[in-house]
Amino acid sequence: MHLELDDTQRMVQETARAFAEKTLRPNAAQYERDEKIPASVLRSLADLGLLSVNIPARFEGAEAGAVAYALAMQEIARGCASTAVTMAVTNMVGEVINQFGTEAQRERYVRGLATGELVAGSFALSETEAGSDPGAMRTTATLENDRWILRGNKQWITSADFAGVFVVWARTGGPGTAGISTFLMPANTPGLRISKHEDKMGLRASSTCALVFDDCELPQDALLGELGHGFRIAMMALDGGRIGIGAQACGIASAALEEAISYAKDRTQFGKPIADFQAIQWMIADSQTELDAAKLLVMRAASLKQAGVAFSREAAMAKLFASEKAGQICDRVLQIHGGYGYTRDFAIERHVRDVRVSRIYEGTSEIQRTVIGRMILR
Ligand SMILES: Cc1cc2nc3c(=O)[nH]c(=O)nc-3n(C[C@H](O)[C@H](O)[C@H](O)COP(=O)(O)OP(=O)(O)OC[C@H]3O[C@@H](n4cnc5c(N)ncnc54)[C@H](O)[C@@H]3O)c2cc1C
Repeated sequence: MHLELDDTQRMVQETARAFAEKTLRPNAAQYERDEKIPASVLRSLADLGLLSVNIPARFEGAEAGAVAYALAMQEIARGCASTAVTMAVTNMVGEVINQFGTEAQRERYVRGLATGELVAGSFALSETEAGSDPGAMRTTATLENDRWILRGNKQWITSADFAGVFVVWARTGGPGTAGISTFLMPANTPGLRISKHEDKMGLRASSTCALVFDDCELPQDALLGELGHGFRIAMMALDGGRIGIGAQACGIASAALEEAISYAKDRTQFGKPIADFQAIQWMIADSQTELDAAKLLVMRAASLKQAGVAFSREAAMAKLFASEKAGQICDRVLQIHGGYGYTRDFAIERHVRDVRVSRIYEGTSEIQRTVIGRMILR
């Protein structure tokens, strides 16, 4: 693994950092209060190539690779975790369509996501009874008069209320993972209804909704990849997605740690800055060490992905370690802030809430351990 960044990677990192510092970080608390990421922010992400970091230039993507994507994700999450998850899912949707789509599907959807014309992408896999176990999904797609008819519902779908395209998994065959296929559904599809908006603990500027498919009719060419290959497509997409969530966790922890260092130097107790107390120094030392280790695991997984070699185990390890350590780091940073950390006057209160879900979505920590353990022992 090269630890030195190349010119493109450095440029993408600096672009994302500048945007996060100028636009996201000063406004993230307001986005949370508004429960909305402004349309102008999504527009800027597209214009800066941040919704298509690993998408070929011929579809208007930045074509900067998986490492640059992980770097950009850390910077955007450092500014606003809600914006980062929107960016993560849109990049994941663009990549899965680019990897498995026909030329016509790529032209329409990959280009549309990269240019911002489609605003954002949504990844519709989970259902109320099928979270960690997507093979238990109940949504069906049946071929009737040469049209696919989708019936069922989805749960927890990020960006659903403004996404221009949904990648939807549905059962086309019998039970189990072999009976699942993947479809591309434009937002204006008749019968697609955005239902409950979740009232979440964190990431409150990011929308998370349930979907209802009420006899949603799609043309035959809405199938993404081969019939019955949906589970494999979902697992491959999630491998890449886990690098994004690991990077998001690192970005949130980076912001928190910077705030801890600054607060510890400013806050005086017993006649000296609290940074002079060994207890505080050790919390900061442990946090920086764990954050650096998490970033290295994320970079390793991204480097393997970029090299085109197997990276499932490394992506799961990066996501598991980064999300768990980021949670601990944010908790320590709140402790360093004392009572003030428990108020909305300081960003750490939001970071603690925002970071928590990184241990849950795109596969819980328990599922990551299962994946890693199985791969080591097989
Ligand atoms: C804010 C948010 C955004 C999301 N965005 C999306 C999205 O855009 N698209 C999408 O498809 N999904 C999305 N999800 C869904 C997310 O991926 C699921 O919540 C996650 O996979 C866990 O599923 P579940 O919530 O049903 O929990 P469950 O699967 O019911 O798990 C409950 C508990 O049981 C444990 N458990 C389950 N099975 C096992 C096992 N075999 N071994 C050990 N422990 C186990 C879990 O680890 C967990 O602790 C989102 C979720 C949230 C909260």
